[in-house]
Order: sequence, then structure tokens, then C-alpha cells
Amino acid sequence: MNASDDTEVSARLDAVRARIAAAEARFGREPGSVALLAVSKVQPAELIRAVHQHGQLAFGESYVQEACDKQALLADLALDWHFIGRIQSNKTKLIAEHFSWVHGLGDAHHAQRLGAQRVALGLAPLRCCLQVNLSGEASKAGVEPEALPLLLEQCSAIDGLRIEGLMTLPAPSDDFESQRQPFAELRALRDQLATPEQPLATLSMGMSDDLEAAVAEGATMVRIGTAVFGPRSKY
Ligand SMILES: *Cc1c(COP(=O)(O)O)cnc(C)c1O
Repeated sequence: MNASDDTEVSARLDAVRARIAAAEARFGREPGSVALLAVSKVQPAELIRAVHQHGQLAFGESYVQEACDKQALLADLALDWHFIGRIQSNKTKLIAEHFSWVHGLGDAHHAQRLGAQRVALGLAPLRCCLQVNLSGEASKAGVEPEALPLLLEQCSAIDGLRIEGLMTLPAPSDDFESQRQPFAELRALRDQLATPEQPLATLSMGMSDDLEAAVAEGATMVRIGTAVFGPRSKY
């Protein structure tokens, strides 16, 4: 990384923070109520270090081994690592060990494994969002809305996990109103399922191209890759 990379990272991060603040103001959200998760998949450790130097602590990764390699290179920093990729059964132990959050939980079997491994490691509960498949999502990840209440009940009973809220990853759309639709659905599901004991306060939704629509519908955490780091090279 050189000085011009650092200037670019700094400028992009400022721009993303400004977009979030503008969306909070425009849609009547509390200032600071939308957290930025910087999605660093496929980006080199040195760029993550640069983003951290500009005050960002939470990073999202999609590939377990790649994330573990970069965590080793950045072990001198106190970063908060979120796993946002597809969960595979043979990777749950590494996920339980190396991340404080998991955003894409959609399977009770994975939840059991993650919880048991987290307990065995003696770590604080893994903070989880249940992934919901809305509006004809292209990927098959996540549960159908009809299956969500049962999954929530099952996951809530697992030691070693704390269910913080819901996540969705809709098919891309250029149209603002279409972008809002799945985010509104996720929020409505949350409102139906929330209880005083389990408020499901986190709505993990919105990416580089649809963060404003997500903030409009109540996102509390936006997962932003390209707009923070620049384009990803093919992995
Ligand atoms: C890659 C990714 C993102 C970030 O996407 P950008 O469009 O680059 O902001 C967000 N969420 C998930 C689950 C991802 O895989």
C-alpha cells in the first residue's frame, strides 16, 4: 500500500460515512443509529489496516480461510470480525473461534454446531443474525419467511449464541422503491417476532448500491464493501 491508496481509502470512507449520515437525516433516523460494517473480503490486509487507521473497527469477511490468514497479519489491532459468507458445516469451528458475529445463519444444524463450539472454546456468545430469503433472492441462502419463527425458536435455545436480529441480501435493483421492498419486509418480520426479552434490534441490510433504501427501512448495520475499499478483483 502506498500514500495514494491511503488517501483514496480515507476519501471513500468519508464519503460512505457522509452517505449514512445523510440517509439518517433524510429518513428521520437517529444520528449514529446505523453502524458501518466494512466488507473486506478479497481485500488485502494492508488495506484493512489503512481503513482501521481512519477509525473503522468492524470488518466483514466471506471466506473463512482468507479471513483467518488476514486476522493473523492484523493480530496487533483490536478489530471486530463479522462472518457474512455462506456457512459450511466443516468450517463452523473456525467461524466460532475467529469471529464475534455471524450474519448469515439460516440453518438450525449450523446453529447447533456454532453454539456448541463457542461454548467449548469458552468464548462469549456468538452474536448472530438470522438470514431471511426475501423477494426471490438469487442465492438460496437464508430461510423462507414462513420458516423463520421456528428457526428463531430453535436458535434462541442454543447456549453459545445470542440472536441479535435479522439479515437479508436481496437481488440487486436500480430502482429505489424496489430496493426498499425487501428491506421493509425484513423490518416487518422483525416487528412481528420481537419480544421484550429478545428485541431483535439488529437489522443487517444494505450494501454499496442500496444503503439509502436500507436506512429508510430501519437498517441498523449496513454491510459496505466496494464503496469503502474500491472494486474487488476476482478472487
Ligand atoms: C460482498 C458483500 C457485501 C458488500 O457488497 P458491496 O456491494 O461491495 O458493498 C455485503 N454483504 C454481503 C453478504 C456480501 O457478501
